[in-house]
Amino acid sequence: MAAVGLDIDTPSPVRAARDRAFREAVLTAYGYACVVCRVGLRLGNAPVGVEAAHIRWHASGGPDVITNGLCMCSLHHKLFDRGALTLSPDSERVWVSEQANGRNLERALGRFHGRKAARPNRADAVPSSVFVAWHHKEVFQGRPRD
Ligand SMILES: [Zn+2]
Repeated sequence: MAAVGLDIDTPSPVRAARDRAFREAVLTAYGYACVVCRVGLRLGNAPVGVEAAHIRWHASGGPDVITNGLCMCSLHHKLFDRGALTLSPDSERVWVSEQANGRNLERALGRFHGRKAARPNRADAVPSSVFVAWHHKEVFQGRPRD
């Protein structure tokens, strides 16, 4: 459709199926709860505000594999994608950027610095140190808090 000036970005059925499979695998591995804050809200039976985050962004070549995924609530997913938080190189701890600030920072984010990140319920789902290293280099802002 580019010839007539239309460039409608419609996900392919294959891509949509891959997205669903990735999301389901990641959310299941973490029990539908955020690795940072453990929040896992539902409305009836439907999970709400719980998302499968790519550690290495899909847009930057990150694959849809479970070792590149983390279950996060919407807020922590956004903060992770903006580099306000990351995981330690062994993926066992939450690290918060020294650059994060703002109202109620401690309640929403700061208090999780240095705390254990939730672990997946499958050994083959543990985040890859390669993807975590990419996140440190390309996304995380500044240095971790002291
Ligand atoms: Zn969270």
